[in-house]
Amino acid sequence: MDDDRTFESLGISEDRLAAIEAQGWTRPTPIQAQGIPPAMEGRDMVGVAQTGTGKTGAFMIPALERVEAGAGLQVLVLCPTRELAQQVAEDARLLAKGSTFRVADVVGGVGYEPQITALRGGWEIIAATPGRFNDHLARGNVDLSGVKVLVLDEADRMLDMGFRPQIEEVLRKAPRDRQTMLFSATMPNGVHALALRVTDDPAWIEATPSGTVADLIEEMIYMVKPQHKPELLLQLLGETGWNQVLVFTRTKAGADALSARLGREGIVTDAMHSDRQQRQRIRALERFSDGQTRVLVATDVAQRGLDVEGISHVVNYDVPLDPEDYVHRIGRTGRAGSAGTAVTFVTAGELGHLKSIEHRLGRSLERIALDEYGYSGESLASRKDDRPQHPRKAGGIGTRSADDLTEEELEALLGFES
Ligand code: AMP
Repeated sequence: MDDDRTFESLGISEDRLAAIEAQGWTRPTPIQAQGIPPAMEGRDMVGVAQTGTGKTGAFMIPALERVEAGAGLQVLVLCPTRELAQQVAEDARLLAKGSTFRVADVVGGVGYEPQITALRGGWEIIAATPGRFNDHLARGNVDLSGVKVLVLDEADRMLDMGFRPQIEEVLRKAPRDRQTMLFSATMPNGVHALALRVTDDPAWIEATPSGTVADLIEEMIYMVKPQHKPELLLQLLGETGWNQVLVFTRTKAGADALSARLGREGIVTDAMHSDRQQRQRIRALERFSDGQTRVLVATDVAQRGLDVEGISHVVNYDVPLDPEDYVHRIGRTGRAGSAGTAVTFVTAGELGHLKSIEHRLGRSLERIALDEYGYSGESLASRKDDRPQHPRKAGGIGTRSADDLTEEELEALLGFES
């Protein structure tokens, strides 16, 4: 069984085993157990895996085994977002411990000079976003002739973001006899076609069957009126166990406004979205990772590649419009074996999006209708004194499972106030 495998049984070198041990990884995750042996043989790979499954180790451990110090750029990982590229570079540095390999991230929004130093200097391992990397290619700063391993990480996302031309350019310029590994959280037709075209007889590995999310994530849907969302969030944040919370809003302005509101309630919070400068985004992430910030309010810019251990709760303050985003957002909790909870606030106007998500997941999500925040007319303030520990479990707050209501009844109950 894959699950009984040890890192020692996967044919990994002593140096790498030491680095893995220094990371505190005791056993390979399923995708590592499945993916490392064929990749160590030099086989191409297609991995259906989202962040949180240990996919970075699955491609980086075998890739590092092929690197020769001082032989120029040999491992190139293309990632959709800066955050993911920086995370992959960081993981590579940790896994390369004990070697002299040099690792750089090459991403947009930061200065060119250090990147030129790394690229012209032939640093062995680069994790890059396609836009900036292609700029360097066009300027003649990069030599791809020594690339042995090319990884397309989160390929679905890169295609969604319109990076196909840049990816094609890299594919054209990289040596044909390279090893190619493609990872994607989902395998829609476009990605599937790309995977078949760029890989040769690949090993297909799947962390969780496409369309499912980690079993360790408890998912809850709260049916709520729009005007009650802030109150509901504040009450949930007052419960035990809500230690590190990632909240997603649909808009940048919404993220800023919610973060400001939480701040006024004395909650240490920060907002992260694409209008904030790269420096501010990095700081926001660092403070959240360190546990200095308890609640990070983000737009979808943060959802991929955001790799923070110990996120106890993910809140979809607004329902994501794209069902894929739901899967990716909630995958930020329940990381590497620890349990997490994903809570989604759904208004009547968002029911259609919820249905699309359920269709994508192939299962329905349990809905919780809260009298308090929905349609009983009783306000939270009037019940302050007997606030229950948890709205769902306590029952006293007037929870009712909405399972027995039809969508139409729910819509009627939750209808927008004019
Ligand atoms: P990834 O899916 O590559 O983003 O990894 C998700 C998280 O799991 C990261 O924080 C990794 O450091 C961690 N991780 C990866 N592999 C292992 C492992 N074998 N044991 C424990 N943690 C791991």
